[in-house]
Amino acid sequence: MEGLRDLYQEVILDHNKRPRNYHRLEHANHVAEGRNPLCGDHYTIYLIVENDIVKEIAFEGSGCAISKASASMMSTELKGKSIPEVKKFFEIFRKVVTGEADVMNHLEELGKLAAFAGVSEFPVRVKCATLAWHALNSALDGGEQLVSTET
Ligand code: ZN
Repeated sequence: MEGLRDLYQEVILDHNKRPRNYHRLEHANHVAEGRNPLCGDHYTIYLIVENDIVKEIAFEGSGCAISKASASMMSTELKGKSIPEVKKFFEIFRKVVTGEADVMNHLEELGKLAAFAGVSEFPVRVKCATLAWHALNSALDGGEQLVSTET
């Protein structure tokens, strides 16, 4: 488990340093903001959903390493998935990071996102790890929320 933990740490550091899909999506049809005042994390999640499939996903914002790596890995993992698959993924991820479910039972489904299982030991960090996911969820539930011009 030590080796696994080191590997996971590396994945998180890598995504924090070089976040993937880290930009604004001009033609997003679902957008939501997530804020975690406890830590100062703040992200906007952009989605292009077509026929119930996540075609594009991107994010912008700033925050701690855990929140940024989580948003980055979420964006790479969910692209191409259907909405029900995304919802299911979020549910498993949430359960694992809150310690409700054992990560060892979900390694295959979670893939690299299993890296965040360790945060379940740190309740404050759970909010960092799930922030982008909650924003994603509300973006999906928010229906057609077109990005308008900047205000
Ligand atoms: Zn944070």
